[in-house]
Amino acid sequence: MPAPLNLCNHKDMKALYSPRTVTDAHLIRGYLQSHGIETLVRGEFLAGGIGELPAGMCKVWVADDANFERADRLLREFFRGDTARRLAANQWRCAACGETLEGQFTDCWQCGAARPG
Ligand SMILES: [Zn+2]
Repeated sequence: MPAPLNLCNHKDMKALYSPRTVTDAHLIRGYLQSHGIETLVRGEFLAGGIGELPAGMCKVWVADDANFERADRLLREFFRGDTARRLAANQWRCAACGETLEGQFTDCWQCGAARPG
């Protein structure tokens, strides 16, 4: 019996994150990609594309070591919910109809009332 390959052991890259599921892995990958950080997801084929991953078998890797610290910081922000809070902080509520609107709207799309100053 040959020893099992350690699929996550790559000497040239740092593993950033060990996701619980494949969906999780791709969520993180997409998030970092939106910030210009290229990542690789390894080991996902072991789970057949769905469900829980064997512990430690799949990791998200930062392709360029120079981005690792930034990626790490972004990931921490992501999990603390900073991004979600920042987006939520820009929301406003229409005084006329009570509709909740995203920060980029200056008028209520529901009733046309202007955003209160
Ligand atoms: Zn309104």
